[in-house]
Formats: sequence, C-alpha cells, structure tokens
Amino acid sequence: MQIVAADIGKAVKEVVLSESVEHFPVLAQLQDSGRCRFLEPVQATLRVVRTDAVIEVSGTVAVVLALPCRRCLEETRCAVCGDIHQSYVEHLPRVTGEDGEELELSADEMGLVLYDGEMIDLVAEVEQQVLLLMPDTVLCSEGCRGLCPQCGANLNHESCTCADKVTSLQFAALRDFKVEKK
Ligand SMILES: [Zn+2]
Ligand SMILES: [Zn+2]
Repeated sequence: MQIVAADIGKAVKEVVLSESVEHFPVLAQLQDSGRCRFLEPVQATLRVVRTDAVIEVSGTVAVVLALPCRRCLEETRCAVCGDIHQSYVEHLPRVTGEDGEELELSADEMGLVLYDGEMIDLVAEVEQQVLLLMPDTVLCSEGCRGLCPQCGANLNHESCTCADKVTSLQFAALRDFKVEKK
C-alpha cells in the first residue's frame, strides 16, 4: 500500500486504496496463525496533501474480519474502522533548543515518519492501526449459549443432557444425606 510522492501537491487529494491482506506481513502472519481471517481487502480512504517538506496523510482504515466467538468458537464477522494520521518527511528538519544548540531528535520523537522521497509506504502504519482496532474477543450474539463444558456441544444449535445429569446427581446426594440423618 503505497502513494507516489510526486503525485501529491498543495491541493488536498482523495485516495482510496484497497489491498489484499497478503501485502501486509504482520496481518498475514496473524491470519496464518489462525487467530483471525480477513474476509475483505484492507481499505484505506485517505486525504493527502503536501505542506512545505511535509506530506500529511489522514483518513480511515477499514477491515472486515472473522474471529472465533469467545463462548461457542464459531467464526463471527466483525467490521472495524479507525482513523489514521501520519506526517511524512524525506529529511528530518533541524531542531534547535533555546540555547541555539542543535537537538538530536529521532523521527519518532518529532512525530514524523521518514520516506525515501519517492514512495510513501503505508503498510506499517496501517498494520499498527488495524492491530489497535482488532477486538480481543467477540460474541456471535449477545445471547450466545456457548459450548457445553462437559460434552462440547454447541448449545446454540443442539441441546445435550449433561445439565440434567448434574442435577440428578445432586438429587441423589441430597437423598443420601436425608437417609443418613434418619
Ligand atoms: Zn457464540
Ligand atoms: Zn453436554
């Protein structure tokens, strides 16, 4: 996911980029590990503009993914969308302190990202944002009944008799207790 720097001028330009998850190493790895599945390409809707030496990129990033429901483990579709904002420079500006001495600041400390002068690569920034947006857990529905802890049956689709067995065992224990008391 890249923008050609030469295409960016002083007028704000709208750019819509859509790219398959294979182009995002961290996200692809996440998918390969089975943690989630990306159902649609990663989409970025951006406004880009050049002000002096700085190229400003801002807009939204959206992904549609499937995560396992935390109760029944069934794949659950989930769309996430968040803001992105980053300033890119080809060279770091010189920054001087109050005493006129030049300060050694990293790009990160200045809130800037360096680019090679030709291409603005958005992969790392987009990946970071998607990781922040991804929910840790999802529910397929508020009323999901989950899996039976005894037999593993998905209680949304089938019923099992494990709960009945537990109850009858408790009744049996109660009966014995009463017998002992006599
Ligand atoms: Zn569920
Ligand atoms: Zn069961």
